[in-house]
Amino acid sequence: MTSDPAAVAKVDLEAVRDNVAVLRRAAGGAEVMAVVKADGYGHGAVEVARAALAAGARWLGTASIDEALRLRRAGIRAPVLCWLNTPGARWSAAIAARIDVSAGDVWAVEEIASASGRAGLPARVHLKADTGLGRGGAPPSQWPRLVDAALKAQADGLLEVVGLWSHLGSADTPRHARTLRQVDAFREAVDLAERAGVRPQVRHLANSAAVLALPEARFDLVRPGIAVYGLWPDVPLTRTGLRPAMTLAARLAQVKPVPARQGVSYGHTYTTTRDTRLGLVPLGYADGVPRHAGNVATVLAAGRRRPIAGRVCMDQFMLDLGDDEAAAGDEVVLFGPGDRGEPTAMDWARALGTITNELVTGVGARVARVYL
Ligand SMILES: *Cc1c(COP(=O)(O)O)cnc(C)c1O
Repeated sequence: MTSDPAAVAKVDLEAVRDNVAVLRRAAGGAEVMAVVKADGYGHGAVEVARAALAAGARWLGTASIDEALRLRRAGIRAPVLCWLNTPGARWSAAIAARIDVSAGDVWAVEEIASASGRAGLPARVHLKADTGLGRGGAPPSQWPRLVDAALKAQADGLLEVVGLWSHLGSADTPRHARTLRQVDAFREAVDLAERAGVRPQVRHLANSAAVLALPEARFDLVRPGIAVYGLWPDVPLTRTGLRPAMTLAARLAQVKPVPARQGVSYGHTYTTTRDTRLGLVPLGYADGVPRHAGNVATVLAAGRRRPIAGRVCMDQFMLDLGDDEAAAGDEVVLFGPGDRGEPTAMDWARALGTITNELVTGVGARVARVYL
């Protein structure tokens, strides 16, 4: 008997540290904010945050206040910015924990200012411009009003505007005209705010793709997420020096003989063509293995890559192992860095028509995280 978990996401924190070093070099003189939202893209926010800071990241980024507070509760004192909050958010808790908050709307400035007043401590605020993504932030028509509202609250001692920022929409194609237009639009938004009297400590725009491929988007601070975890869409990894940090693996729960023409898993979308052996893998869509990975994605089992046989179920899926040597308890690797012959998350993303971000953030809470 062994206490090895049935399914595990192994996270190589040395890879995280090396990836941050790569990003620091790519960032030139700009500081690095390691984005650890969504539990560190499924890798574990606190562990990744500590590794990233040890490797020289100066900032951390999260979506929600709760995610940022979790970092503080773990004893992490580095600057943290959170950027996605709704009316009535826990601004006071964020201010008391010295968590930087973002405002892309006048209502947010007002709520933050009144929470600051109650706390007797000025909030640290980053003003967000929508420079073309068409998501959060103030569009050009509302930017001057947002800047004025923030400067007024700052003059009242209620907050400090420490950052000006925006987010790119097509950074995966960095030289795309739309991306370059966004860089220009950001410069204009910064100029307007600075002419109005804002003295930001940091101006920031670049996500992973832009850090690595769009020098003019670096400004004072860069915000890589997916690259911290060693994943990178559509560019061979040898060109970036990044190494995937996560290996998703499980141990076979059963291996059994079946005859030819045995239908496999729900709906029998796979049928054996000869006498063979089936292997049962205890990972399913509840653990983040997409249901449509059935008969599409491959895994490394018994020394070779083979497609998932039939539908992925909630908790499990099957493999057709043929005569290959395999027994219950043997390891199956779904994806990893690729250096032992296993597929990478990029291989899965391509096969499934998605991006690696969705795959790693989808790895469920039931899968044990083990840190190397
Ligand atoms: C998620 C996120 C990032 C990181 O994006 P990657 O493409 O993963 O590097 C940066 N900034 C903001 C605002 C984000 O939401």
